[in-house]
Amino acid sequence: MAPVSAMLPRWRLYSWSNNLMSSGTTLYLKGAEFQYPDTEKKVLKGIDLEIRAGEWIALLGPNGSGKSTLLKLFNALLLPSQGCCFIDGINTNETKSVELIRSKVSIVFQNPEDQIVASVVEEDTAFGPENLGLPSEEIVIRVKDALVGVGLWEKRKHAVSSLSGGQKQRLALAGVIAIRPGSLLLDEAMSMLDPASRKSFLDLIKREHSSGSTIVQVTHRLDEILNSDRTVVVTDGQISWQGKTENFLSISENELKNMGFAKPPVAVLKEELVKSGIIPGSTRSDIREIRKKLCLLQ
Ligand code: ADP
Repeated sequence: MAPVSAMLPRWRLYSWSNNLMSSGTTLYLKGAEFQYPDTEKKVLKGIDLEIRAGEWIALLGPNGSGKSTLLKLFNALLLPSQGCCFIDGINTNETKSVELIRSKVSIVFQNPEDQIVASVVEEDTAFGPENLGLPSEEIVIRVKDALVGVGLWEKRKHAVSSLSGGQKQRLALAGVIAIRPGSLLLDEAMSMLDPASRKSFLDLIKREHSSGSTIVQVTHRLDEILNSDRTVVVTDGQISWQGKTENFLSISENELKNMGFAKPPVAVLKEELVKSGIIPGSTRSDIREIRKKLCLLQ
């Protein structure tokens, strides 16, 4: 498959002033189906999914269930074979709107190499804003903001090839943040990171979310979804479970195991404390909240 950089158009279609703020994007799928050319089987089968602006969705499911394909519908890298996909009310099959859609929705993929487009750190981060046709002063501001945000400002003049795997993943995120897309889609974007880099990457996502961005996060690790609002599980191209993340994490350890997920330790702890009647079931799977409830007992 061609690297994503090769699929990105060099667009200059609309005024930069339209995109000064990153406000969340709404993502909407209705009866969406998808089948890859020259294959026998539909990969997505009638997906109905509405994601509100500023929502954080955890998208889970076994390998091959269609999660990446679904993300690609949201930024018009793929178009539904049947049904439709709307981004902020714009139908993704309107070819004239593809550039606008991609300025609203950006994907960070698992392998940062697929997204790197320049040989020097700051040039790579500037690529997206340049393609939006922004004035150079605005590009400078955005590049600095994004590189400071991901902790790579000191390395701005360095060759991309000199970065570690975790730094390259943060660079890929910087490139996306600099576009201020409104929606960040993360396709197992943390899977190649060590625990410390994963934490700082997750902190960046939290920051983007608190500034209003919509987040859709594909992952296999439930300890990464604790901050999400809603969980959607895709199995064999269909939504098999969806609801509040807190409700998903309240599913028993065994049942989650049967679904193929390992319950995060903090949710196991909460389950035990609730079962023993020590804290109320309404307590969130959050270590600070659990501690607060325990302190109230003293
Ligand atoms: P997931 O992200 O849940 O692992 P994917 O969306 O990547 O699932 O893939 C869903 C199915 O589509 C898999 O069976 C995969 O082999 C198939 N698939 C993915 N990309 C292509 C492609 N470019 N051509 C043909 N089949 C594909």
